[in-house]
Amino acid sequence: MSPPYIYRWAGLLTTVGLIVGVAAVVLSDVRAPTVLATSQDPAIAAAAGELQGRQAEDAPARGVPGGARPAITASRLTVTSTTTERPTVALTFDDGPTPEYTPQVLELLAQYEAPATFCMVGNQAAAHPDLVQRVAARKNRLCDHTMTHDAGVGMYDPDLMSRQLDTSRTSLATAVDPAASVDYFRAPEGAWTPALDEVSARTGMRPLGWSVDTLDWSRPGVAAIVASVQQSVHPGAIILFHDGGGPREQTVEALRQLLPCLQDQGYAFTLPT
Ligand SMILES: [Zn+2]
Repeated sequence: MSPPYIYRWAGLLTTVGLIVGVAAVVLSDVRAPTVLATSQDPAIAAAAGELQGRQAEDAPARGVPGGARPAITASRLTVTSTTTERPTVALTFDDGPTPEYTPQVLELLAQYEAPATFCMVGNQAAAHPDLVQRVAARKNRLCDHTMTHDAGVGMYDPDLMSRQLDTSRTSLATAVDPAASVDYFRAPEGAWTPALDEVSARTGMRPLGWSVDTLDWSRPGVAAIVASVQQSVHPGAIILFHDGGGPREQTVEALRQLLPCLQDQGYAFTLPT
């Protein structure tokens, strides 16, 4: 072949190469906006920003606290979800209400937004309806503990037993206005009998026991009450305290120490189910 042919073919190949190259660049420019549009195309980015703004405005309407910015909303939802899965303990207080100790217990519970169950003696409730009202007003639960803390009630004739429970339950319920619901019964001194189980269930009250006994009624000292809880507490525990029936300053001080400890251990305070 003579040199002119070589130059001609070289020129042709170069031309074809340039055309292919330009075509590739043009095509890549056409595809590029499709892939990168969400972050680089100003118009689409503006539209996305507007959408985020609308989502933020929607947040309060969906009942999300604050709801100002989507990032914060998501964070709060996560915490709420975690909270519901936390281990729980139920605090219960027997033999009150008493003017000396029940208000102190309520004040401590309020600091930790902890609800509790108060197993009240009917005569105490009748003597201090203002305290029953304060207990009921804070989403605590009222529990029937008989009219006179009668540990022998489980041995009564079923009819008499039924009347006894109805009387104390009514005493608690009507101490507050509007009348409260009393759906639980706890036998004084834990003196359960099969008949008492049956009668309390028939009167519409669930028998309420406990799984951690602090023995605070025996006044063993604040450290002993605290230790009894720390050694025995477990997820789902029902802990027995007393806010009446005798001097309970040890109970109040133990509660002051236990509430932050239990909270630090990850426990949420709840009512027995
Ligand atoms: Zn009791």
